[in-house]
Amino acid sequence: MIYLDNAATTKMCEQALKEYEYYACSNFYNPSAIYQPAIDVSLALNAARGQIKKCLGANKGDIIFTSGATEANNLAIRGSLRQGKWEYVFSAGEHASVFNLANALKHEDKVVHFVKLSKSGEIDYDALQSMLNDKTRLVSVMFVNNVTGVINDIARVSQIVRRHAPNALLHVDGVQAVCKLPFNLQEFDVDLFSLSGHKFHAAKGVGALYVKNNAALKNLVYGGGQEFGLRSGTENVPAIMSMAKAMQAQNIEQNYQIASQLKQAFLQHIKDERITVVGQNTSPYICMLLFDGVNGETLTRALEKSVIVGRGSACSAKKAGNHVLEAMGFNVQQIKGAIRVSFDASLSNADVVSAAETIKQTYYQLWEKLK
Ligand code: PMP
Repeated sequence: MIYLDNAATTKMCEQALKEYEYYACSNFYNPSAIYQPAIDVSLALNAARGQIKKCLGANKGDIIFTSGATEANNLAIRGSLRQGKWEYVFSAGEHASVFNLANALKHEDKVVHFVKLSKSGEIDYDALQSMLNDKTRLVSVMFVNNVTGVINDIARVSQIVRRHAPNALLHVDGVQAVCKLPFNLQEFDVDLFSLSGHKFHAAKGVGALYVKNNAALKNLVYGGGQEFGLRSGTENVPAIMSMAKAMQAQNIEQNYQIASQLKQAFLQHIKDERITVVGQNTSPYICMLLFDGVNGETLTRALEKSVIVGRGSACSAKKAGNHVLEAMGFNVQQIKGAIRVSFDASLSNADVVSAAETIKQTYYQLWEKLK
């Protein structure tokens, strides 16, 4: 079986697993306790913060550990809300953890704007600019789209935001970019940046929010005041340590080259006039395909013994992340045939070529049956 749903989750790597085990079974103390072994765990947690900041290329700010990117996104957005006539701006292609929250805010009488996507899948930068003013409190734009793999130009977004929304915080959901694209947070002026461990070979249920200035954020939960008062609750130390380890274990540049070659080989072999490849300027790790005349869910299930693929977003698999494809202008019929293929650097060329052939053959068989 060839696993091509790495944007949904990845296998934990050995280094991360070892670290997890060590902090779960040997060095298991509560980092908030005051005796020496616990202080040592607390120091290890702080070292992990430093490693994560270094890996992101952030020279200032804090890392707030969370239960994943869904929570990090909720903290970033809800934590930024303020009383009064403030406005909140989101891209129309955001992950459900941002998109559904943005829609919920509308019902809480907040002024919410959605920025449309261009046909290529990127945010429409002119539309973004036109929605900003000095009442804008928060702008949230994702880095790499989890459905299409399309990369937004975050440096450009931050320039637009700084110029046209002087009072705004800029939040970036970086989940599908961290440990995948070579980048450095110093290149973009962002205030808040979310990431999730299980997308890069760490444990599930752990993530982080990078916060440039934690005074700008309000806590959502009350408790013992852990994580700079922004996320009370005993930290999931084994998972956090596994995340820092997994990050350090990645050779991002080398893996980027490998993923690019894998995607190229896959695309060469999947080529067919009835199969549409979605998006331009995409991550080498993600490939969204639309199969004409066949239901993506049927195809996914028909393939699953030999090739595992996704439907766009595991978090809203039944809906296949269709607000993103809708925002790009695809119709319901086209969206029904959506399949997301996502790669990992541990795959070989032979794997992806064989997967492409299997996907094509299975598609043809279903097409014949349904004709
Ligand atoms: N944002 C994006 C872009 C994602 O792909 C995901 C995971 N599907 C999330 C947020 C949510 O991450 P988590 O699973 O850690 O809650």
